[in-house]
Amino acid sequence: MLDRELKRIEGLEVQRDISLASLTTFKIGGPARYLILPGTVTALEKVLLFLKEKGLPFRILGQGSNLLISERGEEIVLSLRHMKRIQMTRRAVIIEAGCRLSRLIAWALSHSLAGMEGLCGIPASIGGALFMNAGTKSVSMGGLASKALLTGPGESHWVPVKRLGLGYRKSHLPPGQVVSAVEIPLGTPSSEGRKTWQGGSSMGGALIPSDTRSIRQRIRRIMGKRISTQPLGQPSPGCVFKNPAECSAGKLIEDCGLKGISVGDAAISKIHANFVINRGNATSLQVVELMEIVKSQVKDATGIDLEPEVTIWNSNGE
Ligand SMILES: Cc1cc2nc3c(=O)[nH]c(=O)nc-3n(C[C@H](O)[C@H](O)[C@H](O)COP(=O)(O)OP(=O)(O)OC[C@H]3O[C@@H](n4cnc5c(N)ncnc54)[C@H](O)[C@@H]3O)c2cc1C
Repeated sequence: MLDRELKRIEGLEVQRDISLASLTTFKIGGPARYLILPGTVTALEKVLLFLKEKGLPFRILGQGSNLLISERGEEIVLSLRHMKRIQMTRRAVIIEAGCRLSRLIAWALSHSLAGMEGLCGIPASIGGALFMNAGTKSVSMGGLASKALLTGPGESHWVPVKRLGLGYRKSHLPPGQVVSAVEIPLGTPSSEGRKTWQGGSSMGGALIPSDTRSIRQRIRRIMGKRISTQPLGQPSPGCVFKNPAECSAGKLIEDCGLKGISVGDAAISKIHANFVINRGNATSLQVVELMEIVKSQVKDATGIDLEPEVTIWNSNGE
């Protein structure tokens, strides 16, 4: 029934009963009854209007690299992965939200543009990276981007990123809004060094013409570090806890002797203590239980409350 109504909206692909586990890096989660894939901003506007008029709740899926999804799955999931165009103007690069960060970094390298290397190795869509303000100590998506195209029911508008309430791994989008594109300004070599770390301010000059060889070298060095310090061959959502102000969550967990502990197939990685890995058939409840154990042991030992970084989807709307 819903299928037929959705199919009347131009520019949408609709899939039924799709495994969400297969669309996440953690490989955990039940099915999406409807996976809706708009191909354009207009199609996204229309489907958001349709869902609003019907009063139907939905989720937005990026690259699925920060998600823990319950086995009950979800009713309606929107994926922007067909919206992945990159467009360069004289002043900026505009990237649709479904474009993968890795593709954008490769594109920047091929255009000899520096500035994004610090984000390499983060598996993300551009929309998900802005929503989570993904980054490292040296650079964050919010520090690079100047504007975001926010799409809601039947309309879209550009907003400066400083109005998105970006902070450490968080943002505050107005309710019902989706990031459908991001603008990153082009700068000159003299504007280098003006990038911020975790904040959301728009500094401009984020992508800077540079020497391809040195960009490539930085990418290799950063990727090499990730490969040697993270369990990249095993399913995970990356770091499950945010770093508290005092020190890294991984160090706190390691100091409590929790590396390698497990609940069923959910285990604390022996390589990086803030990564929970799925050793095969981990369930969402096992992961939640493991996270509770870690949280309470770190609290008992240090008094510090760890806050989840991973986003949890329960079909009851939490
Ligand atoms: C191996 C590994 C390493 C990682 N390393 C890092 C790291 O160094 N730094 C870091 O910050 N993160 C890291 N992460 C976590 C993850 O990559 C980031 O949080 C990333 O930004 C998630 O983007 P995504 O597109 O996969 O979003 P998803 O996981 O699909 O979704 C995450 C949240 O964003 C929302 N969302 C997604 N797209 C949109 C959109 N277009 N509009 C509005 N909301 C949206 C979703 O609804 C959800 O709430 C790592 C993960 C893995 C698996």
